[in-house]
Amino acid sequence: MRIRSDDFRRDGRAIVLVPTMGYLHDGHVSLLTAGRARGDILVLSIFVNPTQFGPNEDYARYPRDLAGDLAKAHAAGVDFAFVPTAAAMYPRAPLTRIVVDTLTDGLCSPRRPGHFVGVASVVAKLFHVVQPHVAIFGEKDYQQLMVIRRMAADLDVGVEIVGMPIVRERDGLAMSSRNAYLSSDERVRALSLSRALAAAEARFRDGERAATALIAAAKAEIADGVTVDYVELVDTDTLQPVDTIVRPALLALAAFVGKTRLIDNRVLSG
Ligand code: AMP
Repeated sequence: MRIRSDDFRRDGRAIVLVPTMGYLHDGHVSLLTAGRARGDILVLSIFVNPTQFGPNEDYARYPRDLAGDLAKAHAAGVDFAFVPTAAAMYPRAPLTRIVVDTLTDGLCSPRRPGHFVGVASVVAKLFHVVQPHVAIFGEKDYQQLMVIRRMAADLDVGVEIVGMPIVRERDGLAMSSRNAYLSSDERVRALSLSRALAAAEARFRDGERAATALIAAAKAEIADGVTVDYVELVDTDTLQPVDTIVRPALLALAAFVGKTRLIDNRVLSG
């Protein structure tokens, strides 16, 4: 991959990278479509990165479908799929880790110890191998997007980080590879996550600005049998908690629907 990228860079071609863990859905495809329009060479990486999963998380059973992914990639105009093995990415246990402070104080980070170290470190590796000019990420994983953007800026990586809006199913459920885990009953209950964000946004539009009231409005919508991991209101730039909204804020949540942990978020502004 590095040799190909060196050649393209020498020829003055703009390389765009869309990093994923595979099991592609229309959210991923939206990133590929945006990427196709932004450069000459579109690279999709598919790597289920073991270092970003906790010991009790779903690394071993994470859904995989390489043939299906490659068909979707081809249809979306991908030039290269970079699909390294874990052994190729980690020939030895790495001694080097990338820690991004303060942006990882809240939200998913304390609930998934080590997760963002794994994410920032593997994305840095992917950047060094693929050497893209642009990399595209989804706002579905808002904290991840902010962590990577800051890592790239702090380390002078020279990759433009582009964020794209959340793609949802018609009924509002944010698309996720993990939705494949849901039973039909769980799928119905999972809808309460996007409903919760919509309920809070409706309160916000009615003039409510207090975090406690907006968070309560969201939690009230969460279906029975769904266990809230967190609902937090944070500043869209610093990701620090907000008491009263005076500038754009992110309402973000995570919840367990059965064993499946899902996340969703919405920006409240204007
Ligand atoms: P993943 O394969 O889940 O690690 O996601 C790969 C990339 O796709 C990340 O940048 C995600 O934020 C993005 N992504 C995942 N789901 C969605 C979605 N529903 N809408 C937009 N982007 C998404």
